[in-house]
Amino acid sequence: MTPFSYLRARSLDDALAIDPSRGDRLLGGGTNLIDLMRKGVEQPSRLIDVSGLSEGIEPSDSGGIVIAAAARNSAVAAHPLVRTRYPMLSRAILAGASAQIRNMATVGGNLMQRTRCLYFADAAGSRCNKRDPGSGCDAIGGFTRYHAILGTSPSCIATHPSDMAVALSALDARIHLAGTGGGRTVPAADFHLLPGDHPDRETLLAPGEVIVAVELPPTPAALKSTYRKVRDRASYAFALVSVGAALMVEEGRIEDVRIALGGVAPKPWRAFGAETALRGRPATADAFAAAADAALEGAAPQPGNAFKIELARRTLISVLSGLAEDLR
Ligand SMILES: Cc1cc2nc3c(=O)[nH]c(=O)nc-3n(C[C@H](O)[C@H](O)[C@H](O)COP(=O)(O)OP(=O)(O)OC[C@H]3O[C@@H](n4cnc5c(N)ncnc54)[C@H](O)[C@@H]3O)c2cc1C
Ligand code: SF4
Repeated sequence: MTPFSYLRARSLDDALAIDPSRGDRLLGGGTNLIDLMRKGVEQPSRLIDVSGLSEGIEPSDSGGIVIAAAARNSAVAAHPLVRTRYPMLSRAILAGASAQIRNMATVGGNLMQRTRCLYFADAAGSRCNKRDPGSGCDAIGGFTRYHAILGTSPSCIATHPSDMAVALSALDARIHLAGTGGGRTVPAADFHLLPGDHPDRETLLAPGEVIVAVELPPTPAALKSTYRKVRDRASYAFALVSVGAALMVEEGRIEDVRIALGGVAPKPWRAFGAETALRGRPATADAFAAAADAALEGAAPQPGNAFKIELARRTLISVLSGLAEDLR
């Protein structure tokens, strides 16, 4: 590992001293960044540890919840307000990693975690446009079981690995950012970027900005929400496909619905087309099947991951049917 210096941030101002152009990186729980440093993918000259900043999880003025960036994943999943008002978020977090990792991992770090593409992690032997822009992509034509089928580009077909971020996208969360020039708030659904020609640019976070909190709006549909993750092992594995969904049905008609998919795209994939197909319609098996078709429209798989189209369709239909059944 290349030598680096360490600063423990005592305040947001300490964190805003970050200068990525000089090799500074923020450190949350370190469960992703330290791995990447060991593999030589990341070589920071200084770590600014933000894990000691606010870990608060509080009701917001608007009736939602504000979760500080340094809140640990375990604490968020277990919080009574999250469990009762946003069960999808609690389940998504609990579907990720292991208990030990969730105890360390922070909300900010989870949002900013890097892809699990094997070629990205192989700094010594593989070409990767995300790690080394313009070098090529060894995943294309390679082992693609875990790669994306939606939102890819000829430059990159990696998936975003976060389960929590899928739920935040579906729940219309907003991400609060701070920089030396002031703060701003961006929708979680827009925070992660598609690769296009610049897979190295992954989020809307500008150089020098820091995630300070995530805010969930009050959403009646979220009361009846869930998250299902399909993976190769029952635990401690990233998603092949995941579905975060919320459903509100009044007198047999769908009043509100939120859907996002994980494991299928370079960002948490909010299925706006599927939601539009469902709003106002009867909550029937036919409607759910049509919504699943809309969610997967435009899928462009690799030879090794075409199975994900049918897997995602069936998972989404099953999740929506289960929510509708519970509402009867
Ligand atoms: C074996 C293993 C299995 C896992 N399985 C899953 C899984 O199934 N599902 C899942 O969702 N996750 C999974 N994870 C990922 C785990 O959840 C992440 O490693 C974790 O969320 C990252 O959080 P962290 O606080 O440790 O981040 P760190 O490793 O400290 O940082 C990650 C990135 O976030 C940046 N960062 C940290 N805080 C901030 C901030 N406040 N503002 C801006 N940038 C910031 C860092 O600079 C760094 O680039 C797994 C991890 C491991 C090691
Ligand atoms: S899919 Fe993306 S992350 Fe993986 S090797 Fe290709 S460019 Fe790199």
